[in-house]
Amino acid sequence: MTPSLLATAYITAGVLFIMSLKGLSHPETARRGNLFGAIGMCVAVLAVAIQVGLATSPYVIVAVLLAAAIGAVVASRVAMTAMPQLVALLHSFVGAAAVLVGLSNHLSPTAELVGAEATINHLETILGVFIGALTFTGSVVAWGKLQGVIRSKPLLLPGRHLLNAAMIIACVWLGVVVVGGGGPALPSLSALLIITAISGLLGIHLVMAIGGADMPVVVSMLNSYSGWAASAAGFMLSNDLLIITGALVGSSGAILSYIMCRAMNRSFISVILGGFGGEEGAAPAGGAVMEGEMVATSAEEVAELLRDAQSVIIVPGYGMAVAQAQHAVREIADILRSRKTQVRFAIHPVAGRLPGHMNVLLAEANIPYDIVLEMDEINEDFEKTDVVLVIGANDIVNPSALEDPSSPIAGMPVLPAWEAEACIVLKRGRGAGYAGVENPLFFKPKTRMLYGDAKKSVEAVLALLKA
Ligand code: NDP
Repeated sequence: MTPSLLATAYITAGVLFIMSLKGLSHPETARRGNLFGAIGMCVAVLAVAIQVGLATSPYVIVAVLLAAAIGAVVASRVAMTAMPQLVALLHSFVGAAAVLVGLSNHLSPTAELVGAEATINHLETILGVFIGALTFTGSVVAWGKLQGVIRSKPLLLPGRHLLNAAMIIACVWLGVVVVGGGGPALPSLSALLIITAISGLLGIHLVMAIGGADMPVVVSMLNSYSGWAASAAGFMLSNDLLIITGALVGSSGAILSYIMCRAMNRSFISVILGGFGGEEGAAPAGGAVMEGEMVATSAEEVAELLRDAQSVIIVPGYGMAVAQAQHAVREIADILRSRKTQVRFAIHPVAGRLPGHMNVLLAEANIPYDIVLEMDEINEDFEKTDVVLVIGANDIVNPSALEDPSSPIAGMPVLPAWEAEACIVLKRGRGAGYAGVENPLFFKPKTRMLYGDAKKSVEAVLALLKA
């Protein structure tokens, strides 16, 4: 491939990636954005394979086809609710790849470098290995927490910040050894391997210290790290496109993390540093004693309330996604709107298990975008609303975030469902939300619980409304 053709392919792929990010920023254009990203990646992989003369290698062709088939099967089978785990796992692959590129770059450098060039090459390798190992182990822990194989409660070791600082200082010192070429007592390869091990431990420790409710920020932060790891690999391989792509992923992930931190009233730096400055050992409110009692209701009573209501706010949460109740919910919204009831959906920034989860579900059910409002746009309207339907949501409507400073979710903005005239909560039983915190909303005098799978409950109410 001629250099100008290669440059054209790289620029095309880069532009497609930017268009992809732009498209993904809105539900209406997200599908197109995804398509641009996929085409850009095909162009990039093909151009690189041709450039390095591997496009016709049977090994590469078989590996690519096999990986594409596995990816297609996994992506098409994964439940929407299990998406964050898959994303975390994919981030871990990027981290592992950066470590492997770094180690192989150290073992057999592509060129004989001396002086400043050699130092820069060493620095690229060290950074790539450091960020890569941290991303790899951090993402595996994030996967474990999201999958439920590791408990979501934060692990707050005594002196954990000192431990983190010690690990970072050790990596810096070992990095100096690597740049200096090592010595008989500590060869540079050994120093690099120890950096890999320490940064891997650091990744585990940082993510273990994050509580359940802050996991969304961690996932997007690891997304950002995986981008920087890819960028570091691009520097090591002298591949401009990998540098650009990594930087795009790294910076967009960092911006998303920042936006989510602001939406959740969390300090960006605190989350990056594994909860630095958070409540040291704050007691989880999981076992807090609730005042009042949970009062059950029936589909008939809910249908009656909805018939009489002038205004309704629907708060969808993770349970709606699990139950796949969104289509039946849309039918209820249609019926109420046809009766001139004002119906709106309130979306919390971390509802569900991935950013934009609820928007995707509502779009899939063809719910008009203009009645789907973000938390900031609708929070003040709850007190003027007749009925709030909380469908499979828990943490995002938990008043203890505002009222209990010792709660693990203290400070997180929530949707004030308790301010409405009546609040109906649809859930199966007494199960806690992702953060494992008791929810005083369920015990408030104006709240009624409609127990059962959200889809079955919504369908029962729908049948009564139709009748
Ligand atoms: P939660 O996980 O807090 O609560 C969901 C509730 O749904 C549970 O209490 C459960 O209660 C109920 N439920 C589960 N299945 C069903 C079903 N089939 N039918 C009816 N109800 C059901 O969800 P929220 O959306 O309120 O909050 C999201 C949480 O996830 C936050 O803590 C957020 O920080 C965290 N998170 C968010 C991510 C994101 O990017 N959005 C990523 C990672 C974590 P029961 O068992 O009694 O039915």
